[in-house]
Amino acid sequence: MSRIARKQQKNLIQVIATQRMWRLFELAKREHAEHPERSERYVQLIRNISMRTRTSIPREIKSRICKHCYTFLVPGKNVRYRLKEGYIVVSCQRCRKEMRYPYKRLKNKG
Ligand SMILES: [Zn+2]
Repeated sequence: MSRIARKQQKNLIQVIATQRMWRLFELAKREHAEHPERSERYVQLIRNISMRTRTSIPREIKSRICKHCYTFLVPGKNVRYRLKEGYIVVSCQRCRKEMRYPYKRLKNKG
């Protein structure tokens, strides 16, 4: 096997980490209806991966995790989304706290 530059290796780790986070996110979505406690576990794993590999959690996944109590947020169940002056306001129904995310269309990165 050829030598891989350190930077490339780091990128690879982050690519794999992101893939794992998406997979766990899918599992969390699927399991939530019947096993909400499993969803919590998946959220924990997502956060662990993110911290261990210093990979940021993809925006879509992040907006589905309460940053105060780390609940997995399910629209129509335990979260409310509102649009407000360029922000998405996410209110967690468990801890009653709000999070704001700037609302803008994703631009293609060059
Ligand atoms: Zn919360």
